Amino acid sequence: MNIHNGTLFWPTTTPSFKPRSKKEKLDLYDVVIVGAGMSGSLTALALVEAGLSVAILDKREMGSGSTSANTGLLQYSNDIMLHELIDQIGEKEAVRFYKLCYEAVDDIETIVNRLNLDAELIRRPSICYASDEKDVNKIQTEYATLKKYGFPCDYFEQHDIEKKFPFSKLGALVTFNDAEVNPLKFVQGLLEKVEAKGAHLFPHIDVQDVFNEDNHLDIRTSEQSFQAKHIIYTTGYETTPVGNRIGADINRSYVFVSNQIEDLSDWYKKALIWETKRPYLYMRTTVDNRLIVGGLDEDIPEAPVSDELIMKRANNLLNQTKKLFPNYDVNIEYAYAASFGESIDNLPFIGEHPTKNNHYYLLGYGGNGTVYSMLGSQILRDLITGKRNEDAEIVGLRRKYGVT
Ligand SMILES: Cc1cc2nc3c(=O)[nH]c(=O)nc-3n(C[C@H](O)[C@H](O)[C@H](O)COP(=O)(O)OP(=O)(O)OC[C@H]3O[C@@H](n4cnc5c(N)ncnc54)[C@H](O)[C@@H]3O)c2cc1C
Repeated sequence: MNIHNGTLFWPTTTPSFKPRSKKEKLDLYDVVIVGAGMSGSLTALALVEAGLSVAILDKREMGSGSTSANTGLLQYSNDIMLHELIDQIGEKEAVRFYKLCYEAVDDIETIVNRLNLDAELIRRPSICYASDEKDVNKIQTEYATLKKYGFPCDYFEQHDIEKKFPFSKLGALVTFNDAEVNPLKFVQGLLEKVEAKGAHLFPHIDVQDVFNEDNHLDIRTSEQSFQAKHIIYTTGYETTPVGNRIGADINRSYVFVSNQIEDLSDWYKKALIWETKRPYLYMRTTVDNRLIVGGLDEDIPEAPVSDELIMKRANNLLNQTKKLFPNYDVNIEYAYAASFGESIDNLPFIGEHPTKNNHYYLLGYGGNGTVYSMLGSQILRDLITGKRNEDAEIVGLRRKYGVT
């Protein structure tokens, strides 16, 4: 399956990642991680720092999955608003989940600083505007809910928006302490560090089947087999080699990246911008003053191969951008489509398989995938090292729309 097609931007910002050298594999690993994207690399870091022996296997170049297509918005708000999540899973768990997402953005920044990674991480506010009149009430309710539970946020009236941006909207929710990142540079930096800390990296190895033996797992691949005490599937939007059903829909989404815009001074604090409509339009800027604009999700799992279709959708996104920022001389320099997974209940899948012992999942489906990768890496480290984690139930796999 092609998880993205078209011209990606992030690979032009950094050379492709090569592990240092081919490693002699161990007879038995504590953990084998399947998938070297955002989820796999963050999980590997948590595990090697906990003292475990780790191998990461990926059937592609490392970091070249949906991590390369990720537009790099890091937000504590989710596709499902907090007041909606409270209705779905109750106040205690919903607020805790939002707190975990909030802390995950901090944790990502801490890792970037602690490991001295060049990940173009910059703190930004986000604004989520009401796409039409009927959604004004919704964002006001969300603002009141976030405020009530102590999340840093604000509400912009129409006149505030008109002062801060060249466009007008009826109202907007503003959340603070979000961030933008270059996800590919971040993952490459993580992989380099985990390798230096002792993890073994094996690109171009396809994991095909896994058997539970008496005291270990026998992991069959396109090359040699691997033995491990635990396996973690961080396989992104592709079918996992083991397991029957995941409570998720795989769709596809479009992105364009613009030329460098000379003056972005009328874009309030270079905020991350999104909206209440579904599917939503979203946009951010880059360190070299480009715009990244995404949206137009379609209910089809495979990214289209037709460049013509990708350009048609990119032009649609461009037109929507020009309506918001009419003064900018914006052109499309990169345009792509990518598969995009969303869980039915808007929560990620993190935890041990309900019936297969020692098989763990970290699938960060949803618009906040990177934040889920971060919080999931900590939960899995705790589960595997036998430490109690109070939050594991919220995102565990035994949900109505979990994993079987
Ligand atoms: C267009 C787009 C925009 C996005 N924007 C954002 C955003 O702004 N913010 C955000 O937080 N998230 C965003 N996401 C989501 C984000 O990209 C993902 O959540 C995140 O990158 C997933 O990382 P991952 O490690 O789970 O998956 P991937 O990066 O896809 O890594 C999975 C890896 O597993 C490997 N693999 C799969 N099966 C096997 C197998 N059998 N054997 C060996 N290897 C295997 C693949 O080759 C791949 O490298 C976006 C996603 C898309 C598509």
